[in-house]
Amino acid sequence: MDIISKIKTTNGSIKTPALLPVCALTYGVWDVFIEEKVIPPWKLSESTLFSLEYVRNTKYEENIREGIHKLFSEKKPIFVDSGGFQSMKKGIERDPIEVLRFQEKLKADIAATFDYPVPLNVEISEYTKMLEKSINCANLSLENKMRKEMLLYACVHGFSEKEIDWYFSKLNKHFDGYAIGSLVPRKNDYKTLIEIIYRAKIHAHELEKPLHIFGVTGFPMLYALSYMGVETMDSWTYLVASIFKEYIHPETLKRVKMRMTGKIPECDCFICKKFKMEDFLGATSVPQAHLAIHNLNIFMREMKLIQEHIRENSFEELVEQKSKHNKRIKIVYEYAKEFMRNNPKN
Ligand SMILES: [Zn+2]
Repeated sequence: MDIISKIKTTNGSIKTPALLPVCALTYGVWDVFIEEKVIPPWKLSESTLFSLEYVRNTKYEENIREGIHKLFSEKKPIFVDSGGFQSMKKGIERDPIEVLRFQEKLKADIAATFDYPVPLNVEISEYTKMLEKSINCANLSLENKMRKEMLLYACVHGFSEKEIDWYFSKLNKHFDGYAIGSLVPRKNDYKTLIEIIYRAKIHAHELEKPLHIFGVTGFPMLYALSYMGVETMDSWTYLVASIFKEYIHPETLKRVKMRMTGKIPECDCFICKKFKMEDFLGATSVPQAHLAIHNLNIFMREMKLIQEHIRENSFEELVEQKSKHNKRIKIVYEYAKEFMRNNPKN
């Protein structure tokens, strides 16, 4: 489906489809990146996503008083989520307006409205209540937004096409974009994900607004979502894998435990060319940062390939080529293709 090719912000444009690495300011590895002891994720992508709950109460509080961009040596678009997912996990109830003011204080280029992500196995009455609360927070945030330059995306939830239709019908029509949440606990059910995301894409498309997908982007989804015309998606697999000392295999795109193979990846990225095994292992934050950046290099390489092949109309050939080493990429893509064929947008 058609894609909005560029998302314009005050700190530059995001060319789509784009993968936004998830970043935080909370612990060791982020100090390494902020001090640029290792090239940081935000230098490798057009835009990054910061999770609000991982920006609050950190030692950088003072530095970000005049905006989060102050921390970085170059200015690029920054998307700040509402922290709804982490608040839910911590059991904290936030005031949606306080969240909005904090995002404005950070001078986020794009912000998502506060929401109530739905875990698995919630009672239906409770489930409906959570969706209504997320809708109310979204509409309230839009009415109270003060900072003009900040794009505000409404968080969207729902687990069927009907629920997505209902959700959009209750939302104010003047958001700058939409972002789907609650997908993380369901991330292995790619069929449901594709159905829900495609439905949301149709609504966003009708309103001529971009769509962002939170938290489910492994390689098969990176391919399928790009094919479906989703504008932006985020991932923190690159970092999570590094915590477990896993590297993303450059060919199979699967996570490999370094201690199992006793080798570093056979890879021509700038990190692997420069460092040896011991620079990736070890308990400090620098080796972890090396591993995370190798992993991110693979994600960004794939994203670039996808962009090129979409542009040259040879996406299917790329999928064929990738599926030789990773069958799931083709399986998920074929499902998306078939689903879209059987469910034309009107
Ligand atoms: Zn590498």
